[in-house]
Amino acid sequence: KHQRTTHKLDFLDDLRQKYGHQPVFLQSVEEIALSLVPIFEDPTDGAFYLRAFLAMTEPERIIAFRVPWEDDHGNLQFNRGWRVEFSSVLGPYKGGLRFHPTVDEGVLKFLGFEQIFKNALTGLPMGGGKGGSDFNPKGKSDAEIRRFCQAFMTELFRYLHPSTDVPAGDIGVSGREIGWMYGTYKRLTNKHGEGVLTGKSALFGGSPLRPEATGYGLVYITQLAMQQRFERSMEGLRCAISGSGNVAQYAAKKLIELGSKVMTLSDSDGVFFFESGMTAQDLDIVMECKNKKRGRLSSLDGKLSGEYIEKKSPWQLDVAFDIALPSATQNEIDEDGAALLVKNGIMALSEGANLPTNLNAQDIIRAHPEIVYLPGKASNAGGVGVSGSEMSQNSQRLTWTEEKVDRKLQDMMANIYCQMEAVTMTGGTFEEGANRAAFVKVAHAMRELGWVE
Ligand code: GLU
Repeated sequence: KHQRTTHKLDFLDDLRQKYGHQPVFLQSVEEIALSLVPIFEDPTDGAFYLRAFLAMTEPERIIAFRVPWEDDHGNLQFNRGWRVEFSSVLGPYKGGLRFHPTVDEGVLKFLGFEQIFKNALTGLPMGGGKGGSDFNPKGKSDAEIRRFCQAFMTELFRYLHPSTDVPAGDIGVSGREIGWMYGTYKRLTNKHGEGVLTGKSALFGGSPLRPEATGYGLVYITQLAMQQRFERSMEGLRCAISGSGNVAQYAAKKLIELGSKVMTLSDSDGVFFFESGMTAQDLDIVMECKNKKRGRLSSLDGKLSGEYIEKKSPWQLDVAFDIALPSATQNEIDEDGAALLVKNGIMALSEGANLPTNLNAQDIIRAHPEIVYLPGKASNAGGVGVSGSEMSQNSQRLTWTEEKVDRKLQDMMANIYCQMEAVTMTGGTFEEGANRAAFVKVAHAMRELGWVE
């Protein structure tokens, strides 16, 4: 049985009782708590750290609201909307909005909790938050999605401010939806040019490279790990990417640029397998299909150099990959998927999505210390990191060059790698490194603010 879930720690038993109804939130709390055990056992400060951790697991505020919107047949529809304002310890609540039928309070608490740690790792003054709705954009017309975004922001706008709470995109919310929400915010408030949302269009205050940032940052930190651990460049490495949204697309773009072989892309209906690596032209076609037409990968069967395999994910293919970059959604890699990656000699698992590897799958990977495992809160932090740059640019009312933003992104990913390495040098994992570095910053800030003694 799972060693991590049978660990004897009283406070964890209490948390398991308390959050049994929010399994994915509990999963992220447990994962982080277990990696902090040595800190909780610190003879001088351990008790304080545990108090700080328990305080951190309680969101400061959860806003829940009704979103009434009109469908194309003139019928009034209702969805649930939320904003989990989890932690303002380091700065304004910061984190994306997710529109997906699986969204509920527990899912947003998990994402918001992860976001506190991720944002702390960026080194920028940002707290953690997450929001969204159970609205399903799949199958909706463009006009329906626009009306939904307008209705959503009509409820949410009163809680937002550049120094209070600054949302961005996530699954189901791209630059287009951010534009519609920002347009609504402007009309409701008569306030313009403020960094109240990030991921905006470059035409009205968006940062250069924000769309690319998560995928590029993911590749930068993976590249660094390959150099440091294996003295390998990315050239020729066989990379499996899941997903075909924002993170997957730009990870693929950077990997192709670096000469890696992008072996897969996927969506919830199936996977494209590229035996000799996807070409830049394949990627252009995918981006056109996904971003402009909001189409399915299945519609590209026969139009790309790869083979389309229905109803499979990259983690069900019995193929040798050097690097796995899960960039679709939470818990997409299960025990079987992890076992297959190990059997086929994977060198690195680098998470583009938030918590894509479930706890049992993580244990399988961790049983092989030769595999580099980069946790999402570190490896996908480039997105929110460039969101932080967008907030800075908006406050200064100017736009930095793409080169400057790219340099900052590379520095930030290298800095995150160093924060983790401080722990791996003493025998810990990258995940322990990420969790401990982030936690200690937030805990110390809580003490200095007088919130936890
Ligand atoms: N949704 C992204 C994440 O998971 C970005 C959040 C942001 O830019 O605020 O980190």
